[in-house]
Amino acid sequence: RDELLSGLMGADLIGFHTFDDVRHFISTATRIKSLKSVSNVLYYDQRMVEVDAFPMSIDFKKYDAMTGHPQTIRNLKKLDELVGDRKLIVSIDRLDYSKGILDRLHAFELFLTRHPEFREKVTLIQIIVPSRDKVEHYMALKEEINGLVSHINAQYSTFGWQPIQYFYRSFPIQMLSALYVKADIALVSPIRDGMNLVSKEFIASKKDNRGVLILSEMAGAAKELYDAIIINPHDREGVAAAIYDALTMPDEEQYRRMETMRQTVSQFDIHRWVRNFMNELTDLKSKQQIMSTRVITDQIQHQIFEKYDRASRRIIFLDYDGTLVPFSRNPELAVPDEGLRRLLRALARDKSNKIVLISGRKKDALQRWFADEKVDFVAEHGAWSRKWGEDWRLAENLSNDWFRDIEPLFQRFAERTPGALVEKKGYSLAWHFRNVDAELAEQRVYEMVSNLKYLVMEKNLQILQGDKVIEVKSIYVNKGMAAREYLLRDTYDFVLAIGDDHTDEDTFLAMPEDAVTIKVGTGLSAATYTLKSTQLVRAFLEQLCYSKRLAGE
Ligand code: UDP
Repeated sequence: RDELLSGLMGADLIGFHTFDDVRHFISTATRIKSLKSVSNVLYYDQRMVEVDAFPMSIDFKKYDAMTGHPQTIRNLKKLDELVGDRKLIVSIDRLDYSKGILDRLHAFELFLTRHPEFREKVTLIQIIVPSRDKVEHYMALKEEINGLVSHINAQYSTFGWQPIQYFYRSFPIQMLSALYVKADIALVSPIRDGMNLVSKEFIASKKDNRGVLILSEMAGAAKELYDAIIINPHDREGVAAAIYDALTMPDEEQYRRMETMRQTVSQFDIHRWVRNFMNELTDLKSKQQIMSTRVITDQIQHQIFEKYDRASRRIIFLDYDGTLVPFSRNPELAVPDEGLRRLLRALARDKSNKIVLISGRKKDALQRWFADEKVDFVAEHGAWSRKWGEDWRLAENLSNDWFRDIEPLFQRFAERTPGALVEKKGYSLAWHFRNVDAELAEQRVYEMVSNLKYLVMEKNLQILQGDKVIEVKSIYVNKGMAAREYLLRDTYDFVLAIGDDHTDEDTFLAMPEDAVTIKVGTGLSAATYTLKSTQLVRAFLEQLCYSKRLAGE
């Protein structure tokens, strides 16, 4: 599954026949490959992959015109001789399990037992186009069909009438056209079918609006052709009843239904399908282009390094999770490795640099992990801060009295959401859903945000949606406020901020115009540039702190 999905993600645009299939595909991709999705767009390796419904169609005019072809007319005469004035039902399928052929034959037999008055008055022409019949399972299916057709014919045939005319071969289009024209009913009953074009070809061939389409609810075409008699292909009684209803349907009703369906098929024909697909693809390519302008090219990187080298007072704001280290299923496991410590030490060693770790983490974690490094901390999104060599300082106007209102609500949601966990920080409450089923999480987040909306306004709180976490805290605290304080107190000639989620957007917005701001990952951002992953952030920072030395050498 994983490899198939990776392969498909090589496409820019993935089209399905129906929205149901689009929905299922997006849900599969987000579940199995943990891809991010916004509406019908999946984000894969910094690239937008759009998934949409493009119901496939037919060349309506071609089938409409084919009814007047001289060969079609000759074939019609032959059919008249074969069928006479009996009612004609046609079914045309490839040999395939998904086509529901056996269920259909059983249903037809049931119809003949339920309505003996129709014996000798109706013929089913079943055409099966050979397909994969060298495969054992298909051979077995073919044998089973042969047996069932023989059984029904042997059981019900009279001298001069055979209920089923069965052909195991393909026919030229002029014969198909004659069949469509002549048929009173097209019986299309697959148990699964992306679209089913036979149903549309039948409609395009019905110039006189006469005839009834019986169509499986499992065919993509059922989403468009709702004036057909829609059936459940497994429900033999239902299919038998639908055959009866179709045979006895008054002419006016047939005309009304067929006219509407003909309008649909002629309007949404194959040309429209191609146009829609190509237009969507062109739009998407330009959207991708706009997104990709923000990727850091070698040239941009060179400019940033030059600026860094020229500067004498620099400040670098670095988020931690998702920026310097990748996410881990358990936040406690995302501890810094030796490589990261070395990198921070190298950056901090330069006297012109001030390094600020600006995180949503609790102050104790930052302190424990980075006590030996010469860096400043902003913890809990700005609730706490600590300059190197000084004590922790609490932001003003802070209180956590509101915990008693919000915490029970968080707990209640966590109890009914497997994988969710509540984290109590000094001045904020977080609801983590990294280990929650993606679709369930989406629903819960929606519910929670609607529940919290008014509560937070009353209490001067705000809801922050981070990466797989919702956090509630005072409106007086955010990373942007903390960063702004630094920039107000001192002047810097090189400002860099790197972060990955919504909470870092506040930092980006607080930055002066000439700052270098980098978002890690995809999605809209106030940052100027993007880097794909934490590894690339590390590589970028490594080159940054060594570039000066190299340039000087
Ligand atoms: N078809 C054909 N020759 C035949 C019978 C059928 O070319 O003898 C064509 C039919 O006109 C239709 C296609 O096969 O265009 C079947 O398409 P459909 O979407 O109904 O089913 P699929 O085979 O793609 O599952």
